[in-house]
Amino acid sequence: MVVGNGHSAATTIGVLSRVAKREPGTRITWVLRRGAVGNTFGGGSADELPERGALGQRAKKAVEDGLVDLVTGFRSERVVIDGGQAALVAEDGRRLAPAARVFVATGFRPDLSFLSEIRLDLDMRLQAPSKIAAEVDPNVHSCGSVRATGAADLEQPEPGFYIVGAKSYGRAPTFLALTGFEQVRSVVAAIAGDREAAERVDLVLPDTGVCGGSGLFDAPDQESSAGSCCASSPQLIQLGTAPAGR
Ligand SMILES: Cc1cc2nc3c(=O)[nH]c(=O)nc-3n(C[C@H](O)[C@H](O)[C@H](O)COP(=O)(O)OP(=O)(O)OC[C@H]3O[C@@H](n4cnc5c(N)ncnc54)[C@H](O)[C@@H]3O)c2cc1C
Repeated sequence: MVVGNGHSAATTIGVLSRVAKREPGTRITWVLRRGAVGNTFGGGSADELPERGALGQRAKKAVEDGLVDLVTGFRSERVVIDGGQAALVAEDGRRLAPAARVFVATGFRPDLSFLSEIRLDLDMRLQAPSKIAAEVDPNVHSCGSVRATGAADLEQPEPGFYIVGAKSYGRAPTFLALTGFEQVRSVVAAIAGDREAAERVDLVLPDTGVCGGSGLFDAPDQESSAGSCCASSPQLIQLGTAPAGR
């Protein structure tokens, strides 16, 4: 059983599919929280990183070939261990058949415990530096078009302190090594006093070819009119209760 929707889950499905072909009788269940498959299979040929695009396509083929049973709209609440196997129970009471192995690819959060004495300015939900949080937050938008980040985005209230690398994206799942290399180049330039090099952005990150985030896909029918960077047309909103024009 594989739980989760991202690239790690797709990678796991790909590997397990090879096992299932080798060992007939192996059953694979893929459990998604989102109500519809949507863009689970990624950007395919629209992904500017071809191998990242291929991950989802391999997983899609495994589903189409009948190697994988897809379960959607399943919000896992607990795991029940029964006879050495694990059964997932959902918030709505549904219970899946027990599995010998459960691969949980449902995200992560950075371990910031060793920084508890350091003055940090982090987004309270994403746990990424506040200046980049809105941009990398997959619940706000993940149109695959995140700009590269540098010293100015990553510096913390603690003088001379920067957060770089995977930790700089907090709980966002879209960090690439390329992002980190550019961050480190810019931060080293800032520490060395080369302001021009620190401010320059030398990288354009490759698009995923997918528009939307986990928050957007969880309940697509409810959220399609909610508005986001991915909305097809501008959304008119009114703040406060006074009629427009007053
Ligand atoms: C399954 C998976 C697949 C991925 N595939 C890709 C990919 O194909 N391409 C890509 O670009 N990115 C990929 N990524 C993202 C990848 O994690 C990053 O691009 C890259 O590894 C981040 O490098 P990093 O140095 O910032 O962090 P990490 O590689 O996580 O390194 C951080 C290091 O710091 C150490 N550390 C942590 N706390 C402390 C401490 N208190 N004291 C001392 N050391 C500490 C850790 O032990 C670790 O060695 C993948 C991530 C995952 C989880």
